[in-house]
Amino acid sequence: MEALKDTFGRAHNYLRISLTERCNLRCTYCMPEHGIPLSPRAQLMTADEIFALAQQFVELGVTKIRLTGGEPLVRKDFEEILSRLSGLPVELTITTNAVLIDRYITQLKSAGIKTINVSLDTLHPEKFRSITRRDDFAAVKRNIKLLLAEGFKVKINCVLIKGFNDEEIVDFVAYTETMPVSMRFIEFMPFDGNRWNKDKLVAEQEILKSVFDRWTVSQVERLTDSMNDTSRNYKVKGYAGSFAMISTVTNPFCDTCNRIRLTANGRIKNCLFSNAEVDLLTPFRAGQDILPLINQAVKAKFAVRAGMKSDESFSDPENYNNNRSMIAIGG
Ligand code: SAM
Ligand code: SF4
Ligand code: SF4
Repeated sequence: MEALKDTFGRAHNYLRISLTERCNLRCTYCMPEHGIPLSPRAQLMTADEIFALAQQFVELGVTKIRLTGGEPLVRKDFEEILSRLSGLPVELTITTNAVLIDRYITQLKSAGIKTINVSLDTLHPEKFRSITRRDDFAAVKRNIKLLLAEGFKVKINCVLIKGFNDEEIVDFVAYTETMPVSMRFIEFMPFDGNRWNKDKLVAEQEILKSVFDRWTVSQVERLTDSMNDTSRNYKVKGYAGSFAMISTVTNPFCDTCNRIRLTANGRIKNCLFSNAEVDLLTPFRAGQDILPLINQAVKAKFAVRAGMKSDESFSDPENYNNNRSMIAIGG
C-alpha cells in the first residue's frame, strides 16, 4: 500500500475507472455545449489494458473499483470489462445515468454489484430534457424502479443548480418517503466549459435550510456516515429512503480522501480538480514498469482540492478552467 499512500498519510484504496469519454446524454453541467475533443480510439484503454492496470492497482492495495464514464454502459465491450473485473478481489460498483441499465441486470448481478449510483437531477420530464438535452426521463425513472425490484441498493446523484432544480429539494426528499433510495444532493462544481459561477451553487447549508423549512428538526435524523464517505447522510424518520449532501465546494472531504482516478485514456488523476495527470498507458504499452509513475502521481497529491484550499479559490476561473470537463473525468 506504500505506493498508494500520499504525503499526508492517506491510503488510496478506491479506484475510479472511466471507461469512455462518450455519453448518450449531454448534461449541461457536465459537458460543454460544443462537446469535447474525443481521444482517438487507439489512445483509449482496451478491455485487456483496463483489466491489467486495475489488477496492478489491486496488488498495490485497492479494494474498491467504480466504473464510470462518460456513460460506462455505452461502451460496446462493457460486459466483457465488467465480467473480467469481477474476478478481482474488490467491491465493484458503477455510476450511470441508467438509460441503458435494463439491458445489463443479469450481468451486473453476476459481477456481484450490489449498489448502483444513478444520476437524476429533476423529477420533471421537461426539465430533464433541458438539462440532459435528451428525452430519456421515463426510461431512467423506470430503470430506477427496476433496479430496486431486482434488489440493488440505489443511490441517486442530483447536481443542484440554483434557479433550475433547487426548488425540487423538498420534492426529492419527499420522494424518499416510499422509494428506498439514498438521495444525494451534489454541489455544482466548476469544470472546463460548464458555465459554472458561484451564484448557481446551492450550498449544503441552503439545502438543509430547505429541508428544515419543510420538516421539523425532530422529524429528521442524522445518520452515521460510513468511513471515507463523501456525503453527510440524513433521513426523515419513517421514510423508506434517506438523503445526503456532497459538498465538495463549500465543505470538502479531502481529509479522508481515498480516491484515485484512471481516465479512459489511461491517465491517473490524483484529485478531481487536478490538472497534473500522469500517463500510465503509454509506458504500460511500452512494457515499462509503471509502479514509480503511480507512486509519483499519488505523492504529488495536494491536501485539499488540488491546492484550492478555500472556496474563495473558486472565484478565479484559472484554477479550474484548465481541468478536463467532468464527462472526461467521471465524477
Ligand atoms: N454518466 C454517468 C452518470 O451521469 O452518472 C457517470 C459519469 S458522470 C460524469 C458522474 C457524476 O458526476 C454524475 O453523478 C454527475 O451528476 C456528476 N457531475 C457531472 N458534472 C458535475 C458538476 N459540474 N458538478 C458536480 N457533479 C457533477
Ligand atoms: Fe453523461 Fe453523466 Fe455527464 Fe450527464 S453527467 S453528460 S450522463 S457523463
Ligand atoms: Fe479527494 Fe480531491 Fe475530492 Fe478532495 S477534492 S475529496 S482531494 S478528489
